[in-house]
Amino acid sequence: MCGIVGYVGNEQATPILMEGLSKLEYRGYDSAGIAVLDKSEIRQVKAIGKLENLYKKINNSDNLEANIGIGHTRWATHGKPTLDNAHPHSSEHFTLVHNGIIENEEELKNKYLKDSNFKSQTDTEVIVKLIEKFYETDRDIKSIFSRLIDELKGSYALAIISKISPDTIYAIKNKSPLIIGKGKDFNILASDPIAMVSKTKEFYEIKDKEFAIITKDCVNIFSQALNEISRKSYILEFDSSDAEKGSYSHYMLKEI
Ligand code: GLU
Repeated sequence: MCGIVGYVGNEQATPILMEGLSKLEYRGYDSAGIAVLDKSEIRQVKAIGKLENLYKKINNSDNLEANIGIGHTRWATHGKPTLDNAHPHSSEHFTLVHNGIIENEEELKNKYLKDSNFKSQTDTEVIVKLIEKFYETDRDIKSIFSRLIDELKGSYALAIISKISPDTIYAIKNKSPLIIGKGKDFNILASDPIAMVSKTKEFYEIKDKEFAIITKDCVNIFSQALNEISRKSYILEFDSSDAEKGSYSHYMLKEI
């Protein structure tokens, strides 16, 4: 468990990401972090322990103004709950957050990443380095994601930003929860709609082995075979008392 959020729109991303992460606290975590993207520059803040530690660091940072960003609460599976292991993780062009467990990280390191230097002990850093590796020879992000889905074994919900596409969040999912919220002049994503209901009630499902390209005006969902999927959005009826019920919301979703 643990959580992911992402926002792209006209508002300041940082407070929206932090509100979303606070709604996901019930899922458990040992560290947290955010990354925001402004004019092709990515800035990130991470902290060990409770979200209030991250809030303090954010309050002491004066350069987090941005309209696009991703956030994460981590429940360590690979490597201790340290600052180096906290998400987001980055390569030269990409920054991402990940919920889940990659089962073939050693294989992937041996096959593609023998020359890479790793800053963390996480399976997640293998993913971001792998995307970078594929990007060296292929500049088509969709084909990179298709190949990535082919290579990764295990569970992952990924939210990715890149300075090469400063108005876009990419999302990829397999066996870890991830859902996209549709807004007017913004879009948002999270592990649980509970993190987004104060912003929107309209959602797109993203299924296993699909990926999405999300800007403030559009959500485009693709299959691994690179076919665009015309997925209908749906309205989730949610009242504010539900939003306080934490994991109970899963039962409600199942009922719906
Ligand atoms: N396996 C990743 C890690 O240990 C992600 C854990 C999570 O889902 O928070 O960093």
